[in-house]
Amino acid sequence: HCIFTTHTPVAVAFETFPRDMVVRLLAGEIPPTLLGEYIGEEGLALATLAFRLSRYVNGVTTAHMNFSRRLFPGFHIRAVTNGVHPHTWTSGPFRDLYDRYIAGWAQEPELLVRVDEIPHEDIRHAHQQEKQVLVDYVREKNGVALDLRALTIGFARRATAYKRATLIFSDLEKLREAGRRGAIQLVFSGKAHPADAVGKQEIREVHNAMRDLEGEVTAVYLENYTMDLASLMTAGVDVWLNTPLPPYEASGTSGMKAALNGVVNFSVLDGWWIEGWLEGTTGWAIGPGPGAPASEAERRARELQDLYSKLEYLIIPTYYHRRDEWTTIMRSSIAKIAYYFNTHRMMRRYATEAYL
Ligand SMILES: *Cc1c(COP(=O)(O)O)cnc(C)c1O
Repeated sequence: HCIFTTHTPVAVAFETFPRDMVVRLLAGEIPPTLLGEYIGEEGLALATLAFRLSRYVNGVTTAHMNFSRRLFPGFHIRAVTNGVHPHTWTSGPFRDLYDRYIAGWAQEPELLVRVDEIPHEDIRHAHQQEKQVLVDYVREKNGVALDLRALTIGFARRATAYKRATLIFSDLEKLREAGRRGAIQLVFSGKAHPADAVGKQEIREVHNAMRDLEGEVTAVYLENYTMDLASLMTAGVDVWLNTPLPPYEASGTSGMKAALNGVVNFSVLDGWWIEGWLEGTTGWAIGPGPGAPASEAERRARELQDLYSKLEYLIIPTYYHRRDEWTTIMRSSIAKIAYYFNTHRMMRRYATEAYL
């Protein structure tokens, strides 16, 4: 009867309870001999229990499936790639635009492949409207005046070590140099779990870096990251940055929200982005692909190289000097990402492959 979806490869998600505790609490409910079959050397491991008691098990992207198979050898683990709900995560101006040009898009998001029907002018206008909403919000909350015309990079997610919110601040001189090529401004957000000391430290480090950049690169950290703020940010920035440490981003979903609003992804190749990424067409990759054998130091060097050089030599010049090319990339985000990474396709796959 059971279907089990594993959602993260991060070790703290795999709870294990000691044998004595399990026997004491469950002996009255479940015959001890049966219980004994499910308790291993290390106690009762919930993930393993779920794997053994389910007839179908899946991860949330192909990369996550592959890594889960290595973590749990002997189990047949499949993949259904995550998606986001289009109507929920599409901002007002883009909903209006899609309603006008692509009738039925909210019921059948695959119709978004027809986004080329929408003129560049209209795409740019809808995006500027959402950007203005974000600019107003930042002025009200942080008292900082963002420039509506400047290339705006967004980063928001739970503050925890593997998400690496500080990666872009690794070399502030390189970041300043990119900013001299064409103004960039940074909008960050994200809360840490109260017990996650490393996550809290990351937030402090982001704030310190932002102070160091003052006067050269405008940067703000928005408090109280919620779904409403996620909506605002994934629609209002120009570039959506994601720099997790592979292979720990099982899927990631905020980049899918960004794509629905024509916001361009610039991300480490992990989770869903491996499946959504077409270099220069749907956005840009940071660092080596999943198959590339790279030591940790080598990986980091290549990530930083991509981060700063693609920003300076590809992203900034395209944004400022090749506006039509930029808008084409925005449209490709919609046509080649949003049409696919949605809950409609995801639920259809769960229904046909797992649930029914
Ligand atoms: C979408 C969302 C997330 C998940 O974003 P990721 O990119 O997968 O980390 C987390 N928190 C909030 C509030 C969100 O809206």
